[in-house]
Amino acid sequence: MSILVVGSVAFDTVETPFGKAEKVLGGSASFFSVAASFFAPVQLVGVVGDDFGEKELGAFEGRPIDLAGLERAAGKTFHWQGKYSYDLNARDTIATDLNVFEFFKPKIPAAYRKADHVFLGNIDPVLQLDVLQQVEKPRLVACDTMNFWISGKAAELRTTLARVDVLLINDAEARQLSGEWNVVKAARAIRAMGPRTLVVKKGEHGVLMFSDSGSFAAPAFPLEEVFDPTGAGDTFAGGFIGYLAGAGDTREDTLRRAVIMGSALASFSVEDFSLDRLLRLTRAEVDERFRRFKQLTHFEAI
Ligand code: AMP
Repeated sequence: MSILVVGSVAFDTVETPFGKAEKVLGGSASFFSVAASFFAPVQLVGVVGDDFGEKELGAFEGRPIDLAGLERAAGKTFHWQGKYSYDLNARDTIATDLNVFEFFKPKIPAAYRKADHVFLGNIDPVLQLDVLQQVEKPRLVACDTMNFWISGKAAELRTTLARVDVLLINDAEARQLSGEWNVVKAARAIRAMGPRTLVVKKGEHGVLMFSDSGSFAAPAFPLEEVFDPTGAGDTFAGGFIGYLAGAGDTREDTLRRAVIMGSALASFSVEDFSLDRLLRLTRAEVDERFRRFKQLTHFEAI
């Protein structure tokens, strides 16, 4: 089971109350790919500039991540700069330098067109649809988006969502997309737009999944030290879709385990800057944290 991901590969400059990292590897497709590659082979489609070197590429080496779809263009790599206060759930975007990403037009290599799982990272919904038109018949299409596209390309986003099976967004985006303040009502409205499964991410408050079988809630893993939340959402998506691809089905119990796997991966990602913690992570550590989630949430009914 292979996973095709289309999204940003970036340099991030991040400031948190605990330190600053400058021009380190980031981007939605980077976090997603490394997380998903614990479970299934990944095919990455994105673009980088000529300042993206061997050091950055090294992050993907030794993992089942195919980079034949990572285009190299003349110019600088996409750069994002963000700053967090002590409330790590809120961040300010200081700069978004699109650079080579501005003219990104995903070209899906012929060898990727049969991918059975597709993750459309947070890019223009017109490009997301264009990707879907280039692939053959995926078993599962998952998608992310953000406020910029919800307000700026509402109609185009609706067209894309009609072809999406799983949408992963945060609670503010769910409210904005649906026009409903209540998250349960928002979920009903969004599921009527296309995605049968909706995952609403709520930062340190965990996630809520809405599917045909009802709803499922998972907390965020209680960590003593959260260092840098950047990429947590994309890491969650990588763990979630990766687990589904590895399992090969979307039954309710598989979906629920995928939510926990996504939460486990994301909890590691926030322990260090950039992809640093994910790159040191072992499968044994992932499985251990998955089991600790069970203890964390288990109780006996009365
Ligand atoms: P997350 O914290 O999961 O929302 O993901 C943050 C990552 O998304 C960072 O590594 C950024 O490089 C990347 N990112 C931020 N803004 C954008 C954007 N407008 N388009 C694509 N990727 C972005």
